[in-house]
Amino acid sequence: MPRFSQAPGDRAAPETQEAPGFSQAPLGQLVTALSAAALLGVVAIAGGLFTRRALLLVRIVRLGKPTGRFDELPRRVRNEAVVVLGQRKLLQRLIPGLAHAFVFWGFIVLFPTIVMALLGAVDPEWTIPWLGSQGWFALLVDVFVVLVLVGIATAFWIRKVQRPERFRGSHLGEADLILGLITLIVTSLLLWHASRIAVGLNEWPAGWSPVANAIAEVFGTGTWAEVRERILVWSHLLVVLGFLVYLPYSKHLHIATAAINVFFGRTRAPGRLEPLDFTLEDEADLRFGAGTVADLTWKQMIDTMSCTECGRCQDVCPAYATGKELSPKLLIMGLRDQLFAEGPRLVADEGFQPSALVPNAVSDDVVWDCVTCGACVHECPVAIEHVDHIVDLRRQLVMVDSRFPSEAGQMLRDVERSANPWGKPQVERADWTEGLDVRVLQPGEPAPGLLYWVGCAASFDERARSTARATAKLLQAAGVDFAILGPRESCTGDPARRMGDEYTYQSYAQRNVETLNETGVTKIVASCPHCFNTIANEYPDFGGRYEVVHHTELLAGLVQDGRLEPVAGSEEITYHDSCYLARHNDVLSAPRELVSRIGKPLEMARSGKRTFCCGAGGAHMWMEERGSAINEERAREAAGTGATTLAVACPFCTMMLDDGMKQVGETVRVADVATLLAESIERGSA
Ligand code: SF4
Ligand code: SF4
Repeated sequence: MPRFSQAPGDRAAPETQEAPGFSQAPLGQLVTALSAAALLGVVAIAGGLFTRRALLLVRIVRLGKPTGRFDELPRRVRNEAVVVLGQRKLLQRLIPGLAHAFVFWGFIVLFPTIVMALLGAVDPEWTIPWLGSQGWFALLVDVFVVLVLVGIATAFWIRKVQRPERFRGSHLGEADLILGLITLIVTSLLLWHASRIAVGLNEWPAGWSPVANAIAEVFGTGTWAEVRERILVWSHLLVVLGFLVYLPYSKHLHIATAAINVFFGRTRAPGRLEPLDFTLEDEADLRFGAGTVADLTWKQMIDTMSCTECGRCQDVCPAYATGKELSPKLLIMGLRDQLFAEGPRLVADEGFQPSALVPNAVSDDVVWDCVTCGACVHECPVAIEHVDHIVDLRRQLVMVDSRFPSEAGQMLRDVERSANPWGKPQVERADWTEGLDVRVLQPGEPAPGLLYWVGCAASFDERARSTARATAKLLQAAGVDFAILGPRESCTGDPARRMGDEYTYQSYAQRNVETLNETGVTKIVASCPHCFNTIANEYPDFGGRYEVVHHTELLAGLVQDGRLEPVAGSEEITYHDSCYLARHNDVLSAPRELVSRIGKPLEMARSGKRTFCCGAGGAHMWMEERGSAINEERAREAAGTGATTLAVACPFCTMMLDDGMKQVGETVRVADVATLLAESIERGSA
């Protein structure tokens, strides 16, 4: 391979010195041959060790249960570009995000230098044709070496000086080792480049490498300088290869798996759970959640291998924040440890019986602490799907082991027996309409323009009923043609599903879809975000496809159209985003538009997609809470804004936060946006 001629501006090789390189003498040819043999040897050893481990990991993942992740290719490619290449999620936290981005982008830019070092290790005059002689590339290398070092220094500063809570429980020693190895890689690259300039081996104009050139000034010339160049290129290569080998054996495997995990990340609505298929004929294919590592889907397996232990999920988890045992990070690490411990045996021995994930990888309390708020999933930079893991663990505990908190058992029985988690008779479902003249759709009647899906909470709970009454009055005032199902409406099955009772959920999903399809309705409004999420995102799996809107979206549209005319008051209102509305379904602006038409809005620090749960999700409305209360923490935050009213858009949030305000001794009024809107319209007509 020819050496490229030096361009003007190169540092000239010392005059007294022979042009470096081995190609001009038989001895040189011998050294080149020996170097090539040595390189082949180390690459073969490193490649062999890497491939051996990589193959084992691939064989483990291939044992994973199927899950459909090969659809929506353009969206997957876009996610890869935005989340991986653009580092979008990491950059949500600017300083650590930039530190990581510098290192990541540095690896991409510097990748060709590995090939250059492989060639240069055989013969100092060899390099990549064209690219090796480009000044702009040499400049990029200098710049990115410095940026990577800045990124690493920042990461060390965060880890060693700032010591944020989110790293509690992470393998810090191993992370330090990886940061140290990356420092060695880029430092040895920089020194190697400097040593090439010092002996005149730079194919590129030295002036394009300001940092390497400055270091070359202090490097001497002569035989020792040539030896130093050889030592540096080989040191650089050995560190790179060592890093490559270490990676798949370490717990920081994410450098290799994160991009794959993002590519196969979920593309459908964040609030949708994957249904289990109970109709499979072959019992071996039937899956009841995750009992052992053998029950994990292949995506779940890659999830566990992709965790960077960054703790971003732990940092936003309401369960962790209120002193519960659950940390989404430790949960994923626990599953990974068990997969790494048992996976190789699963591959080697068909008869091997893996142990139960609960309580070996994670405890029962960890599984039940989760409110399925999805904050962890939203924050995770590598597309790990914690909620699906947790619900799968619950499915196994509930449907196979019959093991769940006793108080939640009562809720499951009520849903099964009474079609609502309150255990109230179905005939009372439309009692809230008394005096309102709301049409209850009877079988065989023509479909209304809009079906109001009231939900169990607004049908049976006194506080939540005020939302249903306000919504109905507003729809009537705006002249909307709507009806309710009354006793034909049943629980959507959401609380049972989030508890892990997929079987009960599916029976309700089928029953409700059948009823809805029979009526011929095409448009549904729901005032409960959990019903909204289930009907919009999960019922399509059972043949129920409707246009579903949340009541805040519908009401905001009616206000925009002038069909409802609120009169703004002077009260200061802070709005609490429900997890299932904001984070899981992206409904952010409609409730805010309404609040701004009703009073003076005040935003909480944790809002929008980064909202903080009220504590009721994941069937926690019906479970005892350990540690301090999530609703009290949120109530304090809302009261801290100075607002006199806390607006909500979910019946569960209404109940939880109203209780929370009372518990923490605050007098802030908690009311649904619909109730506040109805009041503001009445204010105008008074
Ligand atoms: S879903 Fe919410 S409660 Fe559950 S682990 Fe994630 S952040 Fe924590
Ligand atoms: S699960 Fe995601 S957010 Fe949590 S520690 Fe791992 S990589 Fe970070």
